[in-house]
Amino acid sequence: MLKWGLRILGVFVLLNVLGAIGAYVVIDRSIVEMFGGRTPVIALEPSHETPERYVLANVRVLEPGSERFSEPMDVVIEAGVIADMGAGMAQRADAPVMDGEGRYLMPGLTDSHVHLWNSQNDLALYLAHGVTQIREMHGQPHHLEWRDQIADGDLLGPDIFVVAAQIATYDFAEGLWQSWTSKRNVARTPEAADQMVRDLAADGYDAVKASSYLSLSGYQAASAASEAVGIPLVGHVPVAARLDDLWASNQSEVAHVEELIKGLDRDFGGYGVSNAGEYLDYVLAHRDAVAQHMINNEIVLASTLALVSSFAQQKTDTEAALETAPVGLVNPGVAEGRAMGWLPDVNIYSVPQQYRSEGWRDRYQAYWTTYAEAQQLMFEAALAAGVPMVAGTDANVPLMAPGYSLHQELEALVYAGMTPAQALESATATPGRFMDWNTGRVQPGFRANLVLLNANPLEDIRNTRAVEAVVMQGEVLMREELDAMLDAVEAVNDAARNTPLDPAWTQAAAQ
Ligand SMILES: [Zn+2]
Repeated sequence: MLKWGLRILGVFVLLNVLGAIGAYVVIDRSIVEMFGGRTPVIALEPSHETPERYVLANVRVLEPGSERFSEPMDVVIEAGVIADMGAGMAQRADAPVMDGEGRYLMPGLTDSHVHLWNSQNDLALYLAHGVTQIREMHGQPHHLEWRDQIADGDLLGPDIFVVAAQIATYDFAEGLWQSWTSKRNVARTPEAADQMVRDLAADGYDAVKASSYLSLSGYQAASAASEAVGIPLVGHVPVAARLDDLWASNQSEVAHVEELIKGLDRDFGGYGVSNAGEYLDYVLAHRDAVAQHMINNEIVLASTLALVSSFAQQKTDTEAALETAPVGLVNPGVAEGRAMGWLPDVNIYSVPQQYRSEGWRDRYQAYWTTYAEAQQLMFEAALAAGVPMVAGTDANVPLMAPGYSLHQELEALVYAGMTPAQALESATATPGRFMDWNTGRVQPGFRANLVLLNANPLEDIRNTRAVEAVVMQGEVLMREELDAMLDAVEAVNDAARNTPLDPAWTQAAAQ
């Protein structure tokens, strides 16, 4: 009897273990899918067809400071670097010549806040939109591999500055769940946060990131460790921290203008629809001091204006908001999944049904319009004070389509008060300096990551969309090749899609 009982118990335990493993596998597959990892990857090999040394002839070049384009001149490119430039180089260079008459040459664009997740096709989307550098803000080991393969010329894509996935504090069970499902770096104690910064630096990440969910003591420990090992600390200002804690830290970048207005809101005591006006007055009274602290502490500010401006509509009228983005280009795993979903049923910003009581739409619109106004007030003060700003979009969160969104951000920056020259600097020279990369200028010695435009972006910032060719590490990609890359991404997306798209949501891509 006992023997049989043990056997039955054994089978029961075995079935449970198998069930748990099965559940783990199924959930893990869906996590990979929700972050875009199950969409087929298009061919992403550099052709290496461009000669080692060649001349871009008769191009107007964006001058340092981005205030004007030069008279037409020749630019000599050799081994992926700008070797020489000036008048009459084409005749003397003894190298193949590509004529760029009537075109505008500027540094390749940088999106300083993106999320690749598992969507490798995004690399093509960035290049096709003239974005030749990205700052990955939730870096995982496979991003380090992509970064290195691109640097070695084995993978086609923009240069990647990989910020390790955000460091956050959770209790034991929540920590296991968060590190599994959202790939956050969970540090339960200040000692763990200290060790985590050291480990991530040793793993080869370019920077470490503070989460909104990092404890104050964890934030202070991460800050001290980042200073000790010399790795930049970037990202959010933890909810548990005040702006004074930011000023006391080693943090050298704030990932959104939004972080500053959230910090001001904590100091204010938390605004609502009823005291929105008082909160805006509070922001007005304190914004100059905040901007001055940013300068004194040499903190770079990433913009993400377009995203925050989309909140009011995205939360209350998701269907209409989707018309502003080329949804067909976005990885369907991401757009349809619950992790970072874009589509109406899964949109992570859309107001959930249970909160849609009488008058909800007006209330939400009022709250999020105030939020965007506060952002605008803070942005104006930062701009007036001269806080170094980098254009960032939070690409891949809804409705920020990789590559495309950077042009929306440049437009948003100009709409918010930057000159076109300032907006271009925020996507070229300023991020180049922050990452300590020799990109962001068309000058000898700088990397040949370039964009050739058909129209002058200083006359109208929307002309950054008029991309005729992209030069990535010296390799020239003409418009037809860029379009073929976009078509290839859209084709694999369509084949992998479970939910058909409303045709209105794919219109933006055509513009
Ligand atoms: Zn982000």
